[in-house]
Amino acid sequence: MNPNSLESILMNQYQPFDPAAFLKEHDFSISNYKPGIVCSMCHYVGLEETPKSGWNCPSCHTFDGQAHVDALIDFCMIFDQYITVPQVQWFLSLSSLTKAYELLLSLELSPVIIDEVRKYDLKPILTDEYLGKRELKKLLSSIFISD
Ligand SMILES: [Zn+2]
Repeated sequence: MNPNSLESILMNQYQPFDPAAFLKEHDFSISNYKPGIVCSMCHYVGLEETPKSGWNCPSCHTFDGQAHVDALIDFCMIFDQYITVPQVQWFLSLSSLTKAYELLLSLELSPVIIDEVRKYDLKPILTDEYLGKRELKKLLSSIFISD
């Protein structure tokens, strides 16, 4: 790995993330949790990134431009208001730390240092706009699934 690459800088900046320890700490069994972005329509786990900055469901073919935000809102509600870059990579099942970092940057989330660890505050995405769209998708999915 090139020592000057963003990936390498991120690797040096962050402790390796241990999902098993994290889930244990939060009283959650790892066997109960499958990381990945969830389809809001059919609940398939593992949406695929599309070239036009969004996510595509391989199961029902729904396109969702906001699925990563919904996933981060889920993280906030299940675990913590603050998230590290490796946790983003794990929770959203992303291919690289760089991708995780870029997603946080695209949402203009601010880094904070908590216990000497750089984390990102998820509070700014808990807006009426994002939460409203999320609720609407839940409503649509209930119609979709009962169909
Ligand atoms: Zn789907």
